Amino acid sequence: MKFTTDEHGYYGKFGGAYIPELLYPNIKELEDNYIRIIESSDFQKEFISLLKDYVGRPSPLTYASRLSEKYNAHIYLKREDLNHTGSHKVNNTIGQILLAKALGKKRIIAETGAGQHGVATATVCALMGMQCTVHMGETDVKRQMPNVLRMKMLGATVIPAMSGNRTLKDAGNEAFRDWINNPTDTHYLLGSVVGPHPYPDMVARFQAIISEEIQWQLQEKTGKNLPDYVIACIGGGSNAMGAFYHFIEHESVQLIAVEAAGLGIHSGETAASIAKGTIGVIQGSKTMLMQTNDGQIIEPYSISAGLDYPGIGPAHAYLHDIGRTKVLDATDHESLQAAFELTRLEGIIPAIESAHALAALPKIQFNATDVVVVNISGRGDKDMDTYIAHMDKYC
Ligand SMILES: *Cc1c(COP(=O)(O)O)cnc(C)c1O
Repeated sequence: MKFTTDEHGYYGKFGGAYIPELLYPNIKELEDNYIRIIESSDFQKEFISLLKDYVGRPSPLTYASRLSEKYNAHIYLKREDLNHTGSHKVNNTIGQILLAKALGKKRIIAETGAGQHGVATATVCALMGMQCTVHMGETDVKRQMPNVLRMKMLGATVIPAMSGNRTLKDAGNEAFRDWINNPTDTHYLLGSVVGPHPYPDMVARFQAIISEEIQWQLQEKTGKNLPDYVIACIGGGSNAMGAFYHFIEHESVQLIAVEAAGLGIHSGETAASIAKGTIGVIQGSKTMLMQTNDGQIIEPYSISAGLDYPGIGPAHAYLHDIGRTKVLDATDHESLQAAFELTRLEGIIPAIESAHALAALPKIQFNATDVVVVNISGRGDKDMDTYIAHMDKYC
């Protein structure tokens, strides 16, 4: 049984496609074709082959023995940090570039905040010889220069978005504007389980490889294919959706999503869209987001660029609403602590996003027999400046 939307693109009351009329043809083309293409054997063959030989999948499931001892449970780490380009994002960009090719597109556009999705997109465009334009807020261009230079080296054109406060939301608006102006030859490669239908469902299907692998890897290692807990961080929610996907129908598996609390959920400096959010429309989708009483989006804050987003994918809003997932949050401080702890106990430097998932471990009362999977969505190389700045306090 697949976890998916109803025929109108909704998960319960969340989701849909709230888009300007000028975008209808682009979205309709995707909606009419994505399932047929993704489920075709030609697509599946090429997708699986690239995930194996280009990305390096399956990513290992590592038993974390010293972490397990500390938290008195059997803790396994799903190692998306070991993928080519250093995170789970490439699973989705590989999937969408193949879809774009099957639709006859010649040009790819994307939005990026910290630049991680931009780099993963520029990478697959180089691989496939496709033209690549990445929209990025001017503020982010200035503060994420290494990723801007990576994208340029990979052959992408980076266009600074000059509207609003020149960050991720504004880059997204520019990408939609670009797509309206180039409806026939261009595919918009969105980076998470957000945006108008069918993006949340499409991206979930590409990231579902994470939980598909966890099932057989756990079977091999423990003799059972179901864990007691799966824990993942949520920005837009794509790594969490991938890690949860095949477990959603198995009620015995507790699904824990961890939001970025920033300086604390009551501090006013936070990115916890479920804890602090209300229902509304953002980037073409009805979901939970942080907004003022009159519907203005509240600027989010987190130490982690990948979780610094004022909304959350509609599937996560739904799974939380029906009580299928439990949503916790972790502050900057708790996440830094967790990152240094994993590094010292297991010799793995996680992305600061992934460290938010690890920060949930001390907040849960485990039984000694519990099997726990933590999704390590990415590696920490990109966060070394942040870690170095806090080394004195946490080492
Ligand atoms: C982008 C990113 C995230 C957040 O995105 P999701 O769609 O919520 O997964 C998490 N971890 C890493 C390493 C990222 O690069």
